[in-house]
Amino acid sequence: MATLSFLKNIELTELHTHLGFSVSPNMLWEMAHNRGLRLPTKDYWEFVKLVTFHERKEYEEYLMLYDLTEKIQSSPDALFAAAQTAISGAYRSNNITKLELRFNPILRNQSGEKDLDHLIVFTLQGIERAMLKYPVKAGIILMMDRRFSYEANAAVVDKAIKYHERGVIGIDLAGPIERNNNSRTFKCSDVADLVKKARKAGLGITVHTGEATNINEMWEVVEILKPDRIGHGIAAIDDLELMKFLSKKKIVLETCPTSNLNTKLVRDYDHMREIYSKLKEHNVLFTINTDGPEMQLISLKHEFTKLLDHNILTEKDILQSNKIAEKASFIK
Ligand SMILES: [Zn+2]
Repeated sequence: MATLSFLKNIELTELHTHLGFSVSPNMLWEMAHNRGLRLPTKDYWEFVKLVTFHERKEYEEYLMLYDLTEKIQSSPDALFAAAQTAISGAYRSNNITKLELRFNPILRNQSGEKDLDHLIVFTLQGIERAMLKYPVKAGIILMMDRRFSYEANAAVVDKAIKYHERGVIGIDLAGPIERNNNSRTFKCSDVADLVKKARKAGLGITVHTGEATNINEMWEVVEILKPDRIGHGIAAIDDLELMKFLSKKKIVLETCPTSNLNTKLVRDYDHMREIYSKLKEHNVLFTINTDGPEMQLISLKHEFTKLLDHNILTEKDILQSNKIAEKASFIK
């Protein structure tokens, strides 16, 4: 097994981590009980299975894991604690000194019961508290969702702009495709003006695409939304022109190797080797991320070890991907 001694004293950057997947099961369990939430099970070990990736799942089924963690994190206090623990843990276990955390405030407002400003400000305060304890720079990416109405996505962008000076560094677009009518009929052009507005306000733009969606959607994303970075984006390997475009425009992919294996979007390590080899061949800039370490039962260093052990990346590639991540970070 690779030792990672080459990473000694190297500060790491992680760009793609969901707050909902960055809190340990025991802490989620405590949070839920502190708030008196009724959980789907009263047994702790059953609960652990509900909030971690202990077996591979279909993509849409995987996204349902979010629903429970989002529900548990649906209060200002819970978000304060979640942000703090995610950043502290990343520093202590992986020497991550630059960390971008993303979450969707509307999916945590309990159908309008909770005030979005409280949810966001408490999260930012959790980040500040963690930065007092450890030499870390962290920021928040607020997420729009394919399931939302235009108005709901507009509210996310407005809040991102409002809190830009205080630590919201960018916006994202994500969400399942098959869940409701909005998501099934979603088109990038629906949110193009919102993305433009966010960019004008100085926010970074990233979009989940080319993970479960195909190259057609990826083309739409890069041509209409013009993101700085793309969440996943591995579908690009099926299209030479798209890889050339990404490389030319220096659009950075936030790849999440184990997450893609867990959702069966990547078949196995041979398939994964093929993906990274094509990205390297065509000079597509990529970074390595966990997508959410606690849920995936991994860490950034674990990802590096796997990629080395399976001869997918070299030590040089990993150092390079970390440099790209540092440079592409929305944290200035
Ligand atoms: Zn993601």
